[in-house]
Amino acid sequence: MAIIIDGKSVSADLREQLKLKVDSLKEKGITPGLAVVLIGDDPASRSYVTAKEKSCGELGMYSRDIRMPADSSEEELLDLIGKLNEDKDIDGILVQLPLPSHMDENKVILGIDPSKDVDGFHPVSVGKMVLEQETFLPCTPHGILKLLEYCDIKPEGKKVVIVGRSNIVGKPLANLMIQKQSWGNATVTVCHTRTPDLKKETLDADILIAAAGQPEMISGDMVKPGAVVIDVGVNRVPDDTRKRGYRLTGDVMFEEAEKVASYITPVPGGVGPMTITMLLFNTIQSAQNRK
Ligand code: NDP
Repeated sequence: MAIIIDGKSVSADLREQLKLKVDSLKEKGITPGLAVVLIGDDPASRSYVTAKEKSCGELGMYSRDIRMPADSSEEELLDLIGKLNEDKDIDGILVQLPLPSHMDENKVILGIDPSKDVDGFHPVSVGKMVLEQETFLPCTPHGILKLLEYCDIKPEGKKVVIVGRSNIVGKPLANLMIQKQSWGNATVTVCHTRTPDLKKETLDADILIAAAGQPEMISGDMVKPGAVVIDVGVNRVPDDTRKRGYRLTGDVMFEEAEKVASYITPVPGGVGPMTITMLLFNTIQSAQNRK
């Protein structure tokens, strides 16, 4: 049976360390501040935003919750971002994605001052990451690397297979894991919907990272015995037995995979808490850089 990687506990540990940093900044009169912008009323986005604000509060950071109606114009959003760029109380700006379809995500991200881009999505941050220069790393990939580090799982020399090539998870994670750094030096394969034989690829993985957004698509027979399995997926599956009418599941069939893997992350309680922790990490870093 696999060892369960407890993202909540690793996260709690890291947040204790971050709290000390916040305390010491506050002694110097600096309170790290995060602005969270939510456009529209998507329930999943709302719950992510609430969790981010709550976490800021727990660390004694300042958070500003800005909600805009779904029919707000792109110009209004860019205008708001412009003001937040100038705001001295704000160290990090997070615009919750996805945006309504009438807004251009690339244009909105470009509007954020790279020095406040705590999501690490701005092309300047992405470019610096690829060139291995100091920058804000995207939170989910960074959180995954931290989880591996905590479990003393070294990617060096390992075969890593990532299922998913999105700009926020698959692509940056693949990039980080090939870097000549302690968190990298792996041999990485990235799979997607045009990969002809997914099982052949996943069975080759020493570290298998599922980030496809497809509930339980990775079955136990797709996992190499002894592999480390990181499940990034967060999927809402209808479930009448639950009061809220759905349950959360990952991209991995957990009960099957835990019998084959050496380590595995659960959903919820694996990668999710780490994503928020790395957002706090970046915001504190930004406050330190700025002041
Ligand atoms: P996207 O939808 O942007 O990307 C999904 C990727 O998976 C695409 O590259 C797609 O391929 C690939 N894919 C989809 N289905 C298959 C399949 N059957 N076989 C092979 N590849 C497939 O998703 P995100 O990267 O934004 O998110 C992925 C998952 O991770 C979601 O469940 C999301 O909710 C979750 N997530 C969790 C976070 C956390 O903190 N825990 C943070 C961010 C995301 P193609 O490019 O060919 O379409």
